[in-house]
Amino acid sequence: MAKAGMDDALLDVLHEYWGYAEFRPLQQEAMTAVLEGRDSLVVLPTGGGKSLCYQAPALCMDGMAVVVSPLISLMKDQVDALRVCGISAAYLNSSLDQKESRQVLSDVRKGEIKLLYVAPERLMLEGMLSMLTEIKLAYIVIDEAHCVSMWGHDFRPHYHALQELKNIYPQCGIHAYTATATEQVRDDIAVQLALNEPDVLIGSFDRPNLTYSVARRSDRFTQVSEVLERHPNEPGVIYCISRADVESLSESLNNAGYETRPYHAGLPDEERAANQEDFIQDRVDAIVATIAFGMGIDKPNVRYVIHAGLPKSLENYQQESGRAGRDGLEAECVLLYSEQDAMIWKRILDDQPDESKATAFQSLQAMQNYCHSFDCRHRYLMRHFGQDLEQDCETGCDLCRGDFEKVDDAQVIGQKILSSIFRQDQNFGSTYTAAVLKGSKDKKVLANRHDELSTYGLLKQESLSTIRHWLNQLMAQGFLTKTAEYQQLRITDSGWQLLRGEVAPQLMRTSQDVKADKARRT
Ligand code: ADP
Repeated sequence: MAKAGMDDALLDVLHEYWGYAEFRPLQQEAMTAVLEGRDSLVVLPTGGGKSLCYQAPALCMDGMAVVVSPLISLMKDQVDALRVCGISAAYLNSSLDQKESRQVLSDVRKGEIKLLYVAPERLMLEGMLSMLTEIKLAYIVIDEAHCVSMWGHDFRPHYHALQELKNIYPQCGIHAYTATATEQVRDDIAVQLALNEPDVLIGSFDRPNLTYSVARRSDRFTQVSEVLERHPNEPGVIYCISRADVESLSESLNNAGYETRPYHAGLPDEERAANQEDFIQDRVDAIVATIAFGMGIDKPNVRYVIHAGLPKSLENYQQESGRAGRDGLEAECVLLYSEQDAMIWKRILDDQPDESKATAFQSLQAMQNYCHSFDCRHRYLMRHFGQDLEQDCETGCDLCRGDFEKVDDAQVIGQKILSSIFRQDQNFGSTYTAAVLKGSKDKKVLANRHDELSTYGLLKQESLSTIRHWLNQLMAQGFLTKTAEYQQLRITDSGWQLLRGEVAPQLMRTSQDVKADKARRT
């Protein structure tokens, strides 16, 4: 098919089956790669319209397309949505009984299915693989392709076996899709799936209609209700780390007169589905959820996403906060964190094998660094995903809006902090170091005779919380690192440069610290 003919055919399909008039950015290029039988790697942010890229071409081609997807609920939703559009689609996963599976396989053999969704472990069964060589296979899609990479934030062992696909079906185009991929993960996906000179299409990760802000969590209920007050009768998502937090926050919000519903994997299926439906149909203000919520949910008018606890990675944050403002209208993303959140995640992440644990801990540290950084938040997120902005967002984040107060003598303060760490033989963590600098009478400090250090009480006029904040800021800016095992603070090469007065950090007081300090002094 000539290029113009291809575009027309695709637009016809878009219009006929979905009622859409035009392509979203990169959709046309992605669909063309599929039609022309090249391999591709497509990275589009959540809401970018990935599914259409790999669904529409199937309707312009002979044969059946296979879509590998990791989530059972997502498969069902997608297949239901396709059937509503009049497209013959089916799925194969562990939720089907034998009879249902047999029916699907029989439909596939008869050539009656255009799009088959399949779980990776199911696809790689010998019987399944050989059946696919007997029918006309149009192309294979690997959705959530970052799951194939150990460098990613969601490695799944079943995805590993997919590297055989290129061997088994060398003539068949393989198309990898993901919303979140740093350059390293991107390259790894191409290697793992043995993609053959793939078209690499990467959409912009910036979401200009979202405003970002970050605050330390002091009083979760009050901070969350402040956001809700700004959005009367507008739907929003509130993420918590644990199921218990979901339950208690939802309950206290409801007691205060808001209408919220909890959502987490521990609720009975029926209740969870009903709560989700109440939210989708705008019958409640907000859904309070763990990260179990959201995959495959396509609600365009979410006006705010609050993280009432630290996400485990920037990839997660991008995806979860990205559920706000899919309709392109302004929406707000608020992140409330506490130092303890990182400890909770560490305990949760501690169970995995060593290789992926190291990556998970790094991702967690990158997330913490985001909280303590002073670069435009839009820009910070873009850079993390290997892109950049021409200029700071100006009004799209708390930092550009000037919600923080810059500290004038940051170099001297930085030196005081690092000197103390040096004099403590770099053997202690943040809380302890802050206590020494504050001049605390803490038993441990006295037992170690650190009250005799020249740095003891050097920052006694500051609050412990401000000192801890500065320690985190120095870490985010690379002057300090923490040992993985005991969280001991260590001075980096840049840290030594700071001690020698060759460089200066940027230190800020948060608006909360400024307020608290004022209250303390009066
Ligand atoms: P992703 O998988 O990238 O998160 P989806 O495929 O769920 O995104 O698409 C997000 C929303 O955008 C869906 O409601 C989808 O129907 C809609 N959409 C996708 N492509 C188009 C288009 N070309 N025109 C209009 N709406 C579109």
